[in-house]
Amino acid sequence: RVKEKWATTRAKCPASSLALQYFDANYSAHLGELWPSVRVALLSERKYGALLNNFSHEDVLADLQARGCRDFINDTDTEAQPCSEEKSETCLEEESNNLPVKKPDIDDQLLSPLKLSPNIKCVVFPRGDLTRFKPARPDMERLLGYYLMDAASVLPCLALDVQEGHNVLDLCAAPGGKALTLLQTQAIRFLCVNDSTASRTTRLRKVLHSYLPKHFFTEKNLRITTFDGTKWGEIERNTFDRVLVDVPCTTDRHSLIEDDNNIFNKIRTGERRKLPQLQLELLLAGIQAACLGGEIMYSTCTLSPIQNLSVVEQAVHLARENHGISVEVVDLRPLTHMFRKTFHFAPDLHLGEMVIPHLAANFGPIYMCKLRRLT
Ligand code: SAM
Repeated sequence: RVKEKWATTRAKCPASSLALQYFDANYSAHLGELWPSVRVALLSERKYGALLNNFSHEDVLADLQARGCRDFINDTDTEAQPCSEEKSETCLEEESNNLPVKKPDIDDQLLSPLKLSPNIKCVVFPRGDLTRFKPARPDMERLLGYYLMDAASVLPCLALDVQEGHNVLDLCAAPGGKALTLLQTQAIRFLCVNDSTASRTTRLRKVLHSYLPKHFFTEKNLRITTFDGTKWGEIERNTFDRVLVDVPCTTDRHSLIEDDNNIFNKIRTGERRKLPQLQLELLLAGIQAACLGGEIMYSTCTLSPIQNLSVVEQAVHLARENHGISVEVVDLRPLTHMFRKTFHFAPDLHLGEMVIPHLAANFGPIYMCKLRRLT
């Protein structure tokens, strides 16, 4: 009898299986022949990178290098060199759905390489090497030497191109991996980190306190808030030089391995369906929060075009129609070209760039699209 009762309350299909069914139905159409290999990678163990903490007193880089890791950002021998066998792409000035996309000649970019912050360092094990990192150890001030995260999550932060003296807003910041990455630039004058979920903001605080020295926590340097990010345009407009909008999404990789609190759980169907609208409102708020000439990075960890390109397209349109704000889409191909040996990027996205999981380099998915305010 007990068994029968249990059987009636048990979910017929676990949320992770529902997620896989949904992805099979949607992503095979979207990614075509790439989908089977992306699918295998998504269902396999993910790969981490170790973001080095410049605020720690321990020099962990040499130790990690001795274990076979390399800093994929600054190790220019393996990354930033042009591949002689690769044909350079031609100059494209694309007009897609009325979105001005600047696509400079890749050759020009190789002649004048991207200026990325030299202070962001992230080490990874070589392609195909699935060695796990040990947990980071605290130094004499109890600060941890590195933060483990999907190495592809560093890319939106690098591409945001934080410069000396910038005011930066991280609209959906918890648990804080990308905020920590932005702080590694050591260029930010003021950082506002926000997350609407109180419990996650508590976690964000803990992360920041484990990586930043005590003297860093002043009102002049850092503000931690728990606002609904969609309302930011009403609170603080035209203010920030850089805005990161790393929205809640279907977290594809997580949804395939964890049934608890899974967004594909039947009771969360309504929430899942509302995600694109929430993402759109967050991006619009981020655009309004940026100053003239300011740059906004939209990012997700899903392969879904409805949560990626469609959100950006609508936000660009609504920013112009409803708020009189024009933005241009910034071409990120120089960045993907630079890191093509570490990550697999989706080919031919007409808007933004996307790291797609691959068994030999099992990072992502990470979608990113950078906008610049023109008015
Ligand atoms: N940027 C974070 C990092 O790198 O660690 C990850 C952010 S996670 C993808 C998305 C976050 O958005 C969640 O922590 C969630 O609590 C937050 N969020 C959801 N709705 C929000 C809203 N309306 N305003 C602000 N944050 C929100």
